[in-house]
Amino acid sequence: MAILVVGGAGYIGSHTVLYLQDQEEEVVVLDSLETGHLEATLGATFYEGSIEDERILDTIFTKHTIDSVIHFAAYSLVGESVGNPLKYYENNVLGTYKLVKKMQEYGVSRIVFSSTAATYGEPVSIPIKESDPTIPTNPYGETKLAIERMLKWCDQAYGLKSVCLRYFNAAGADPKGQIGEDHTPESHLIPIVLQVSLNQREHVQIFGEDYDTKDGSCVRDYIHVLDLAQAHYLAVQSLREKDESAIYNLGNGAGFTVKEVIDTCRDVTGHNIPAQVAPRRAGDPATLIASSELAKKELGWRPAYPSLKEIISHAWSWHQAHPNGFKS
Ligand code: UDP
Repeated sequence: MAILVVGGAGYIGSHTVLYLQDQEEEVVVLDSLETGHLEATLGATFYEGSIEDERILDTIFTKHTIDSVIHFAAYSLVGESVGNPLKYYENNVLGTYKLVKKMQEYGVSRIVFSSTAATYGEPVSIPIKESDPTIPTNPYGETKLAIERMLKWCDQAYGLKSVCLRYFNAAGADPKGQIGEDHTPESHLIPIVLQVSLNQREHVQIFGEDYDTKDGSCVRDYIHVLDLAQAHYLAVQSLREKDESAIYNLGNGAGFTVKEVIDTCRDVTGHNIPAQVAPRRAGDPATLIASSELAKKELGWRPAYPSLKEIISHAWSWHQAHPNGFKS
């Protein structure tokens, strides 16, 4: 029995593949390599292609006995989704529709879906609970929510069981340094700050310091990418054992401001990291912190790397050893 990981060459996908291999699961990866990196899959059985390509899905489901699918294959740039929503509806929603249709055709009835805190939009209270209202403020979050809802109805109609995992801010890298984060363009705070430490950028911009937070910069909940990977493995196990659909937040339950993140990076790297205050970024809520109590209780999820300093240290080791990502 194998787990098919679609989007398994991306940042969170590849760390999940690594984690599954450590658990001695058989893994098959499908990735278009549009944003992923073949090197990140570390020799896993690999197919290059899109989830919209019926023929490649036929090949995979025929050649391998797939018992579950973990689905990371999506576009995920909030700003881009605002400018080009149809690109997001096509790839994320239509792509998932085609994947799920193929799963049905081959009798595969378990899926773990990579969702996001962006499904909530502006939070009504902190920490955010899974039962809170979901009113996305951008097409990216909207497409992820549409997929969650499609999966819910597919459970009711066809018995397709899904676990949707709503991530907060994924960060860090494999502690052994084999793989890490490599986005082009990079938009995430921690890798951008570390690029300043590597003298690849002159300074980091702080997007707004007039928010209602302790130092005026935005608060986010940073979660180690391998702790996210662990949760995907537990979600597959839970589907195998309990055969029940669920939605879980995945975060640390602790928030850090942009300025605190930059300070911790200064501490870890020993670089002074010049910072400049810039205007607010459109669509950024002041504070996003998850309640992950449900995942802890129901999946038995136990984050192994909750410390922000450790998360940043692992990211820093990767970026130092691979200043140009996988091309280094
Ligand atoms: N941020 C920033 N400067 C940057 C990149 C991000 O101040 O160069 C802020 C951003 O406004 C947000 C936080 O850092 O408040 C985390 O942003 P990121 O893009 O990493 O993740 P998001 O919260 O958007 O998923």
